[in-house]
Amino acid sequence: MIEVKNLTKRYGKITALDNISFTVDTGEVLGFLGPNGAGKSTTMNIITGYISSNEGTVTVDGSEILADPKRTKQKIGYLPEIPPLYMDMTVRKYLEFMFDLKRVKLPKKEHIDEIIRLVGLSDHGKRLIKNLSKGYRQRVGFAQALLGNPPVIILDEPTVGLDPRQIIEIRKLIKSLGKKHTVIFSSHVLSEISAACDRIIIISEGKIIADAKAEKLHEVLSDERRMTLTAEGKASDISAELNKIPEVLRVKKQAAQGKANEYLIDYKSGEDIRRSVFNAMVRINCPILEMKSGDDSLEELYLKLTEKSKGGES
Ligand code: ADP
Ligand code: MG
Repeated sequence: MIEVKNLTKRYGKITALDNISFTVDTGEVLGFLGPNGAGKSTTMNIITGYISSNEGTVTVDGSEILADPKRTKQKIGYLPEIPPLYMDMTVRKYLEFMFDLKRVKLPKKEHIDEIIRLVGLSDHGKRLIKNLSKGYRQRVGFAQALLGNPPVIILDEPTVGLDPRQIIEIRKLIKSLGKKHTVIFSSHVLSEISAACDRIIIISEGKIIADAKAEKLHEVLSDERRMTLTAEGKASDISAELNKIPEVLRVKKQAAQGKANEYLIDYKSGEDIRRSVFNAMVRINCPILEMKSGDDSLEELYLKLTEKSKGGES
């Protein structure tokens, strides 16, 4: 559906994008993850035709943005980092205005009603945009991007500045969009991306440093994974038994919790050791109180990687 090929973008001496390429399949929800200044907005602005690149091409559903900007833009709904809202309009008036501006061919009232319902603005149609909270304004921006039912939806940091409840709602919305649209959305927060998308691209300093299915990201970034185990029993026995599991690389006793201890278990990526851990604890008659896979370590990994590629800066 989307093909980005060898994009390079320079602002004076700054190379914001350094020869990046990726494709997005129809119906895929792609998370575009990277720290501030990584080049996320620049990429999205180029895909949507807002700015041009120095080198490279973008093709959306067969049309190339430079060769046929009008047709290509019609295939994309875009929520930029700062949505272009008119504060003195009501929600409905604004959507009608954008509907006309985009020359949408669908039945106007029905289409706008449907979108308003979809983004949860049914009770806000008559409110002035300036009187809406940040979360509701974001929904208006969302609604604007959905006008005309474009096959591709691009969202630049749609959850920035929202409270946790609003973030969960926006995440749900993004997931539901994925059923009918091809979606790219960016964030600098790993947990937001991994909760909502099929595939993740990590960008840092204008370069793609990982491109993987969400559940494979860890394997791609590191050949180790970590889990936390809380179990009752003699710590030396438990450590010894865990170390017998072939995939286990190392075991560290973390904290005591009454009769139980917490252990950090590092093991080879790509393996699932939960059953082996269970069986090991059964063998030595030590009850498991909790077993947790370490998503935190993925967060750490992401921070480490994006820090590293920042090189000499700081
Ligand atoms: P992100 O959206 O990931 O935070 P951006 O794409 O906004 O990153 O920025 C990438 C790099 O390009 C940054 O170093 C930023 O300072 C620079 N940059 C972005 N826009 C401009 C501009 N209009 N002029 C000069 N430098 C820019
Ligand atoms: Mg940005």
